Amino acid sequence: MQFKSTRSHEGQVSFKDAVLHCLPPQGGLYVPAGMVDMRQFFLYMDAHTDYPELVATVTPPLLQGELNPFSASRVAESAFNFQPELRQVEENLSVLTLYNGPTGVFKDFGVAFLAAVMEELLKNNGFAMVLSAAKGDNGVSISQSFSRRQGITSVILYPSGQIRGLDPATFIQNGGNCIPIQVKGTFDDCQRLINAAMEDRPFAERYGITSGNAVNVGRLLPQAFYYLYAFIKIKPFLQGDLVFSVPCGNFGNLIAGLYAWKFGMPVSGFIAAMNANNAFGDFIRGKEFSPRPLISTNSPALDVSVPSNYERLAAFYEEAPAVMRNMVYPDSVDDYATVEAMKQAWDRYQLILDPNSAVAYAAAERHRRVKDFYGHLVVLATGHPAKQADTVAIATGQDIEIPDKIRKLQRMVNPVSIIKPHIEDLQSAIISCF
Ligand SMILES: *Cc1c(COP(=O)(O)O)cnc(C)c1O
Repeated sequence: MQFKSTRSHEGQVSFKDAVLHCLPPQGGLYVPAGMVDMRQFFLYMDAHTDYPELVATVTPPLLQGELNPFSASRVAESAFNFQPELRQVEENLSVLTLYNGPTGVFKDFGVAFLAAVMEELLKNNGFAMVLSAAKGDNGVSISQSFSRRQGITSVILYPSGQIRGLDPATFIQNGGNCIPIQVKGTFDDCQRLINAAMEDRPFAERYGITSGNAVNVGRLLPQAFYYLYAFIKIKPFLQGDLVFSVPCGNFGNLIAGLYAWKFGMPVSGFIAAMNANNAFGDFIRGKEFSPRPLISTNSPALDVSVPSNYERLAAFYEEAPAVMRNMVYPDSVDDYATVEAMKQAWDRYQLILDPNSAVAYAAAERHRRVKDFYGHLVVLATGHPAKQADTVAIATGQDIEIPDKIRKLQRMVNPVSIIKPHIEDLQSAIISCF
């Protein structure tokens, strides 16, 4: 499969190019060009297929010759020592747990694959420098996944404030490959610096600069795999429609589901579950997108006013407007309903959900009850409940145990350097590390 910019059909590139030079020269973001029918590769997998096996099987045909089956197995095995888990709680309702990775969020799936596949693509003396702007625990996910990867240096930019959870043993001055840098500024400043570093061609080429953020399609594509995984588990007993309920912030997870559909997964629809920040729902219904001011809610991972995947969704919309309008059902869940949903999931199923996942659960429950629904609903549980233990305790009365790996995310660390938000300062900070 080739990749194209959201802004042009010209200049299609390979997966390797899209990953290693992740901003298209024409502007926009990379998206898969065209459809690939992958049905023959996953339709006949049985429900016992494990996750690395599924990933190793679908990657070679998807990337058409860019990764052979041996390389794909190596990538899948080295990326995934954690798996999604499907738990059926009712005849027509399941929960797909995606928070088993190192930092307890589903984003670990995309980051882990990106790191492993980059190492494989760079074999035989290739090199790259991955620049990532960090928000929350994302920096930890990136530093862990890229740690000890041959040929790769990982630069993580943090906005002003404390840096937490990184392991100093992975830092470059201690023999590792991670360079955490604090930028005196905001998260947006960090992103702006990364774009500037990629746009300075000589510098970018000299170090092989690309980004480890969600702009990199190498993070997004592998998120389609856990939808396929859920599908092969449910297929033996599926009757009627298959619908996924996805908690949406930047809409990466949702667009990955739509890509799974593009790869041939038989799915009837996706609930785009939002909290009070729901302006994007109007866009899905066919109106112009007009962002509204950000509202703080109790499901903070979904507090986004302009989704960073807007261009990708708009490009998909343009290609398949009827699919978007008929297969994507926007819904919005307020704080009160979120807490109620957490309580209900616990009372009914002894299921502990984090508030972000509870937004998707609440929307799924509405869909299951109000419409005369015949089929199976899958709720994507995206965050480890221990990460919002306070909200969990309020909603369910349960004091949950905090796993060690989640506790360690809170440890404070010092950056390798602190810079002003200027591209020259970033460049000298990088140069001084070698
Ligand atoms: C990032 C995140 C989301 C939102 O996912 P998007 O791909 O940005 O829509 C949902 N839940 C949790 C726990 C997250 O960390």
